[in-house]
Amino acid sequence: MLCIPITANTTEKALQDAQEASQLADVIEIRLDYISHPDLKKLLAHRPKPIIATCRPTREGGRFEGPEEVRIKLLEQAVELGAEFVDIEHDSVGAENFQPLLQKGGKAKVIISYHNFKETPANLKEIYARLSDSPADIVKIVTTANDITDNLKIFHLLEAVGARCNVPLQGKWKPLIAFCMGELGQISRILAPKYGSSLTFGSLATGKESAPGQLTAREMLEVYHINEINGETSIYGLIGNPVGHSLGPYIHNAAFRELGINAVYLPFKVEDLKKFVQGFKGLKVQGYSVTIPHKEAIVPLLDGLDPLAREIGAVNTVVNKAGNLMGYNTDSTAALRELEEAVGDLKGKKATLIGAGGAARAIAFGLKKKGADVTLVNRTEDRARRLAQELGCHYRRFEDVTRIDGEVLINTTSVGMYPKTDVSLVPPEALRPGMWVFDIVYNPLQTRLLREAGERGCRTLDGLRMFLYQAAQQFELWTGRPAPLELMERVIRERLGVRGQGTGVRDQG
Ligand code: NAP
Repeated sequence: MLCIPITANTTEKALQDAQEASQLADVIEIRLDYISHPDLKKLLAHRPKPIIATCRPTREGGRFEGPEEVRIKLLEQAVELGAEFVDIEHDSVGAENFQPLLQKGGKAKVIISYHNFKETPANLKEIYARLSDSPADIVKIVTTANDITDNLKIFHLLEAVGARCNVPLQGKWKPLIAFCMGELGQISRILAPKYGSSLTFGSLATGKESAPGQLTAREMLEVYHINEINGETSIYGLIGNPVGHSLGPYIHNAAFRELGINAVYLPFKVEDLKKFVQGFKGLKVQGYSVTIPHKEAIVPLLDGLDPLAREIGAVNTVVNKAGNLMGYNTDSTAALRELEEAVGDLKGKKATLIGAGGAARAIAFGLKKKGADVTLVNRTEDRARRLAQELGCHYRRFEDVTRIDGEVLINTTSVGMYPKTDVSLVPPEALRPGMWVFDIVYNPLQTRLLREAGERGCRTLDGLRMFLYQAAQQFELWTGRPAPLELMERVIRERLGVRGQGTGVRDQG
């Protein structure tokens, strides 16, 4: 069930927002601590959906600064007026305030809540046991994820509580709402229904969040389809850093839905890769995309490699085969497919690549396999020299970029990518009519390099189809089914706001 918190600062605005929220939410949380003089009668009389009355004090991350008796009084009134749920913080529990509230409870179910804005402690089961030992009906435990693996503690707690085992209870089982706050905790908000959290929270709009890391309700419903997530949902995701605004969740979740596959694709912002890979094995994640900066570092952490990924030395796709994590590289095939579709036979063609990173490695490798004559140019010359030696290519000094003499020029660096879009590493005079210029950056689609190349009579290729093809091949490796290419392309174009303009979407390979 999805709850939308209302964070408006007046009764009128709160009612308007509640009305809007009722289109998406199952439950609405009225945050009384955001409203200076809440008109409870009006709020309750016009509520469009069941509500949770909450008046969070500052000590628990809320805004209420007044005396505790006034705060509890407000909640008691909300209960008397018929609120379906009332949230009361674990540290408010005491004969002087919690018990009277319960006596007046009537229909209202009491949620006893624990918030930790510093961390996700190791003793979550004890906290659950302590809270469930209160007279409340529902337990809510919300912590802060400082590392992506903190989510695992919440999932384990939810599983243990769901299975009614391994929790030191004194015979009092209570339903549990649990997730992590912060950007690193977003996956627990999305996966809450899979692990049995009674409720998850999404904001009405960006800027109307009631806690750090809250996604919008629309994103939860329309990108992650949380209403369709259940215990059987398979997990896939993108490992990278950063991963915010990646296109992956939009295209893969849309593709899963289109084919009726019960799966969800999540962004995993990973700093400590080894800890992540080991920790998340227990979650039985079925597949990963891998992006900057982990494409090479993940290789030794996998159980096996596809021959192409082994030869390239970089992995952008992981498939979980009966518990074994197998690495693949779909960047190389995708770039070569795009080039061959446009340029034709690449045998004997002279190609210059700007860059010597992971993408350059995959593309140079593919070009060499096709018999192209490849030259690398990179800011860090030593890196270009080493890669050239490894792959049997030439390399040039970075300053010699003006002397490009091939038929194909490929930018494999991130230069030109949003938000610094008005830069290019290739001076216009190096661009000759008829030359193919391929920029693998896809946000924006029309980079400065491609614009100048077009003006000079070059034939241009943007990064969209490479991105599409590498994602489609990933999808096929994971599911064994043909990827819905048209849908995926449409989603990418929609997200990029297309017509080539840069957006807040971060370019991710
Ligand atoms: P990477 O391994 O980090 O390599 C980055 C490359 O860019 C290096 O050669 C680096 O040079 C160069 N570079 C970065 N900033 C530079 C600057 N200011 N001036 C000159 N050179 C600079 O990254 P990657 O995985 O290869 O990805 C590179 C880009 O390709 C990213 O934008 C990524 O999103 C995109 N990509 C697109 C697709 C697609 O499907 N269209 C697929 C994969 C990647 P140094 O060695 O000197 O640092």
